Amino acid sequence: MELTRREALHKIATGTATAVAVGSVAVGLPGQAEASGLKHAPPQALGLLYDSTKCIGCQSCVVACAEVNKVSPDTAMSPVHYVNQDLSSFTKNIIKLYKSPDNSIYSYVKQQCMHCVDPACVAGCMFKGLKKDAVTGVVTWNGDLCVGCRYCEIACPYHVPKFQWIGFNPKIVKCELCNDRVSAGQQPGCTSVCPTHAVVFGKREDLLKEAKSRVKTHPGKYADDKVFGEADGGGTQVLMLSHVNYDKLGMPRLGDESVPEKYLKWQKRLYSYLVFPVFLYGSIVAVVRKNWKHHEHEMAEEEKKTGLRAQL
Ligand code: SF4
Ligand code: SF4
Ligand code: SF4
Repeated sequence: MELTRREALHKIATGTATAVAVGSVAVGLPGQAEASGLKHAPPQALGLLYDSTKCIGCQSCVVACAEVNKVSPDTAMSPVHYVNQDLSSFTKNIIKLYKSPDNSIYSYVKQQCMHCVDPACVAGCMFKGLKKDAVTGVVTWNGDLCVGCRYCEIACPYHVPKFQWIGFNPKIVKCELCNDRVSAGQQPGCTSVCPTHAVVFGKREDLLKEAKSRVKTHPGKYADDKVFGEADGGGTQVLMLSHVNYDKLGMPRLGDESVPEKYLKWQKRLYSYLVFPVFLYGSIVAVVRKNWKHHEHEMAEEEKKTGLRAQL
């Protein structure tokens, strides 16, 4: 059963403290992280293939992404153009330029959510605020469940989710593969406008075949003759090809194991058995009780001295 943000906070405020007080492990608390634990993308998984050798850096995809997702432009740098230094709550998609120190090699790189096969953001969220779709594999955010703890920001190895610091009801901003458009049979905003087809949309399986075929047809053209995302960090549904080494483009070297498998095993267990939330709130209850007892003792002393009964 899914809990709303309000119910989740209410359960934390009441349920856990009660459970700790009676010395039992609470059931039904929201603190169960939902790691996909997937070793492979679902058969119908959707994704993108970005080939930096075809990208001309026109930024049409950035503008289209902002338009279709109704993300307000960041006007800090320029009041007339979309100018984004990095992924932020103002953009779910960014094109960056890499230049070698002697300016002889350059490449564009498109950064966005990679829609990981086993996403660390999902594993890191205690409240199921992020979810990987069982069919499409798309990773989406649910504002009704998110409490704004920003664990997803910390967990993501690609530094993708961004917290919106403005407004009364801030969101976590990240690419959700234009899932509303895709459900309606449309292309994502970015792929619908790319003039060189540097970024294309489709089933991950087909995109991977296409990417591998490009590598095979042009040996030596792509860095390490590899498709980034085939296995990196357990695999991603956004795949990348580039003639420049992937780490120079800011892509982390993760190995083939997923981040939840590698680093979050214990966290997953702690969340699963609710040890961490129970310990945390148990500590809070212990501190409050200690202070309360101290206060009661002080009041009793005061009453002895003055004969007046203090009110709590
Ligand atoms: S890239 Fe980051 S935000 Fe996107 S699915 Fe992977 S872990 Fe989550
Ligand atoms: S799929 Fe949609 S949200 Fe993601 S980068 Fe492309 S346009 Fe932006
Ligand atoms: S629209 Fe295509 S060519 Fe233009 S910056 Fe985006 S990916 Fe590159």
